[in-house]
Amino acid sequence: MMSDHSLYRPLRARLRDASGLAAAAAVSVAAAACSTSAPATPASTAQTAQLPPLKVVDPSYMDTTVKACTDFNLYANGGWLKRDTIPPAYSETGVFKDMADRNELVVRSVLDEALAKAKSLPDTSTEYKLGTFYGTCMDSSAAESAGVSPIAPQLASIDSITSAAALISEAARLQMAGTNVLFRYGPSVNAHDAEHYIADFDRGGLGMPDRDYYLNPAASADSMRRAYRAHVTTMLVLGGEDSAAAARDADRVMSLETAMATAQLPRVARRDPKATDHQMAFAKLHELAPDVDWAAYLRDVGLASPVSLVNVGEPAYYKALDALVAKRPLEDWRAYLRYHALSSAAPWLSSAFVNENFAFASRFSGAKALLPRWKRCLRVTDAQLGEALGQAYVAKTFPPDAKAKAKAVIDDIRAAFRERLLRLTWMSDSTRAHALDKLAKMNEKVGYPDTWRDYTRLTVTPGAFVLNNQRAARFEWERVAQRPGQPVDKSEWGITVPTVNAYYDPSKNEMVFPAGALVPQTFDPKADDGANYGSLGASWAGHEMTHGFDDEGRHYDAQGNLRDWWTPADSRRFNAQAELDAKQYDGYIQVDTFHVNGHLTLGENIADYGGALTGYDALEHALARDGRPGRIDGFTPEQRYFIAYAQSFRVHSRPEGLRTRVKVDPHSPENWRVDGPLSDMEAFAKAFGCKPGDPMVRPRAEVPNIW
Ligand SMILES: [Zn+2]
Repeated sequence: MMSDHSLYRPLRARLRDASGLAAAAAVSVAAAACSTSAPATPASTAQTAQLPPLKVVDPSYMDTTVKACTDFNLYANGGWLKRDTIPPAYSETGVFKDMADRNELVVRSVLDEALAKAKSLPDTSTEYKLGTFYGTCMDSSAAESAGVSPIAPQLASIDSITSAAALISEAARLQMAGTNVLFRYGPSVNAHDAEHYIADFDRGGLGMPDRDYYLNPAASADSMRRAYRAHVTTMLVLGGEDSAAAARDADRVMSLETAMATAQLPRVARRDPKATDHQMAFAKLHELAPDVDWAAYLRDVGLASPVSLVNVGEPAYYKALDALVAKRPLEDWRAYLRYHALSSAAPWLSSAFVNENFAFASRFSGAKALLPRWKRCLRVTDAQLGEALGQAYVAKTFPPDAKAKAKAVIDDIRAAFRERLLRLTWMSDSTRAHALDKLAKMNEKVGYPDTWRDYTRLTVTPGAFVLNNQRAARFEWERVAQRPGQPVDKSEWGITVPTVNAYYDPSKNEMVFPAGALVPQTFDPKADDGANYGSLGASWAGHEMTHGFDDEGRHYDAQGNLRDWWTPADSRRFNAQAELDAKQYDGYIQVDTFHVNGHLTLGENIADYGGALTGYDALEHALARDGRPGRIDGFTPEQRYFIAYAQSFRVHSRPEGLRTRVKVDPHSPENWRVDGPLSDMEAFAKAFGCKPGDPMVRPRAEVPNIW
């Protein structure tokens, strides 16, 4: 289970957002929802063949009327950007959508096979569960005729709350069914004992994607608040309230959530791991928030034995929440829970719910239409039962030699990063020794898990899909419930195999690259080194590796413990260079008056820069070792390296999505992920003959010298 305090930092986290952005961002499963649509038709290999293969470097994407030294992103991607139209159901197009489209056809064939066989399988078999989960999701007419009735018992249970104790019990039930209310609880890796899990309490419970939407005095935020209030009202009416009562209840929800938002830390402040590191005896949590029976809460969420130690991410939030639980009338809380229960179920209820949910989410994403139902159902099936379909996906897409070649590129990047660490002039030898040790011990997972998740304890039944979805959320909750105090499962994967994404987890000191990301356009075992090192090497492997040493990851040691292994002088030098980086990105205007936030995006920008530098070194080594090919498509290996790097960020976004991103996404918009790092690199200027004064050549004094 990943929540928004998770330390996973995917390269790009919008197709399947693990971080709780889902309430707003893009075309996530939560944002998408259903309307009446045609039943599933089997995906054939012919359909897969309808999508042309992707190339790691594709010259047809380029616009060579733009000078490489003026705007390299436009040079490498501008031809495609000019031609591209974003389909109505999407917030953005580009490399991630193109790869996901292809992966989704493969996954669809796996699901269609399971669906076709399900009737003849015992209901205990994993394939039955997979087929039935997907099949009940695809049944739009059942969802339409059921209306709100599948969750009527949940709503009745909320309406019967008459005490603070009952409020917390109900919140626990909702959380276990996958609804984000009041706060977030879950076992996580203990920051000071990375071999064991700890019970972790963090902030949560807002309906909009960030506290800023509640607190920002700007007119744009005010219009979002008005839209949210109207949306809450509509959802409550759909749930059965009359419109006057629903409007009053929407005010209660708004007032509660604004108070909750006020007590939460800003996103940038949370980048410092120490800001959310507050371990305490379990009894202290009772002192902090005395109006909640926390022992009862932990029993409610299935923890069999009491815990002695907990981490409270934001103590001030728990203090404030406690006061709200004690002082606000229970009818405020009932309205709040009712709205969130409806909102969380909405994507899987009748079309009135689906459309209202989508209309609100699209304010943040800019998408103009729902995704086809099969894509929405496929994505939720992957999110909930991903390891049940991962094996079949791997068999169809990822032969052992592709895995071996991807690993070889990643190993070369590791060797190049090691050389950089050895060469750094600003780092003392004692810090360097720790850094080298951390790099050597950094674990890598490539392709797919060694052992697959066991779904024996999951029940999937014919009937309302929304209930199957809640059962799957509960299954996941129960899977990890007893973890506090137990040894960490190092074999676990945080994203599913068909996902076009990757992450570095500092608490395990490991980087993870699923098979779904190790296909063209990211990587092709048959492509030239320039292409593969610029894409997989730099913007994936080098990027994730550098996260171990960015402004956040550097606070963790080789074992994953939050421990300062830097000398004070090295920390000062690192921070001074990081500030240069933040200043560089603060200067980038994204859309209208919306700027990139150089501190929110600092870790990702440092990782991009480290990746681009390291991948280049690895390419030079590979060319020296394997021989230098002639020009391909008219480009030298070095030029192809930079084009591949830029094309690995080939993305076209809607302005609504960009406005949301600069507020909540730690990744800079893609054009800056290209032009930012490359304009800091001498090797780039050399490859394209750029001169001082060209826009793609930043003055050396302003260039951060971190790696
Ligand atoms: Zn990243």
